[in-house]
Amino acid sequence: MKDLSESDVSSIAFSGGEPLLRQDFFKVASYAKDCGMYVSVATNGTLITREVAMMLSKTMHRRTVEPMPPPELAYVIGVVLGDGYVVSLDYSKRIGLHAKDEEFVREFARCLAKILQRPVKVRFWKTRGLFMAGACSAALYRLLRKPVHLERLRPYVEHCDDCMASFLGGFFDSEGTVSKAGLISIANTDLEMLRYVRRLLGRLGIEAGEPRLTAPKGTPTYFPRMKKTYRKRRDCYRLQIHKQCNLTYHLRVGFTIARKRRRLEKYLEKRLGHKPPHFLPFFAPHHAYLVRYSFFLIYVFSLDRSMAEDRG
Ligand SMILES: [Zn+2]
Repeated sequence: MKDLSESDVSSIAFSGGEPLLRQDFFKVASYAKDCGMYVSVATNGTLITREVAMMLSKTMHRRTVEPMPPPELAYVIGVVLGDGYVVSLDYSKRIGLHAKDEEFVREFARCLAKILQRPVKVRFWKTRGLFMAGACSAALYRLLRKPVHLERLRPYVEHCDDCMASFLGGFFDSEGTVSKAGLISIANTDLEMLRYVRRLLGRLGIEAGEPRLTAPKGTPTYFPRMKKTYRKRRDCYRLQIHKQCNLTYHLRVGFTIARKRRRLEKYLEKRLGHKPPHFLPFFAPHHAYLVRYSFFLIYVFSLDRSMAEDRG
């Protein structure tokens, strides 16, 4: 702080993460003010008590409260970039999902309901065997409309580790696959998006290889849902998670879709020699975040130890 003011820095802005989480926040901020800097803070407001509000008004030149984006929003973003859709009809802007896995559509509906603060129904489309959920919202449409600009979405996706995990969960529920051999991968035509996903995975301690071109433009591909073969209109890339990170993936991101989760659990059970912990209760994966996270640390610790024993 002293160095900053001595090099003629005239203003300083504290943002996050959540700056008020720091025990010595006011000490640091008052020091900046005493050094003659213009001091501002952006907080999500969750830690503001009467006392904190008084301190803020005393220390800060400028204060902004930004409501905290919930992980549910990040999940919806992940799904919309995958299997979900956004449409603009005459007077309504709609966000929705059609999929054959009921638990996936239910989780999407729960997240949408939480963001919009109103109920979102799940319906079954009998003739096509698909579950459907959706809602109209102009604000969400503005955020999620296509073409997608990552810059527009980043503040919500990268808000905190929980939001990043939720975003990845939504994206992998949509487009991710688990092979019988336990290989988690995701295919997409948007190379930039896959590279971004790879960086996010890395920030959660999940390593993946550089996306590789697997199906160049023109490759014939069979679509079971339409019972037809089409030629790919764009190059298709695939991102693969390194197998030694499967457990970390399971604990930090996980699949809502039961058939994908079971396949991954089966693989982990074989490798660990016992059942992996079941972290993702149906329909409410992110409420248990803190509990999940502390188990995660214990687990990674014991895994590290067992791998060390393997080696030695
Ligand atoms: Zn967050």
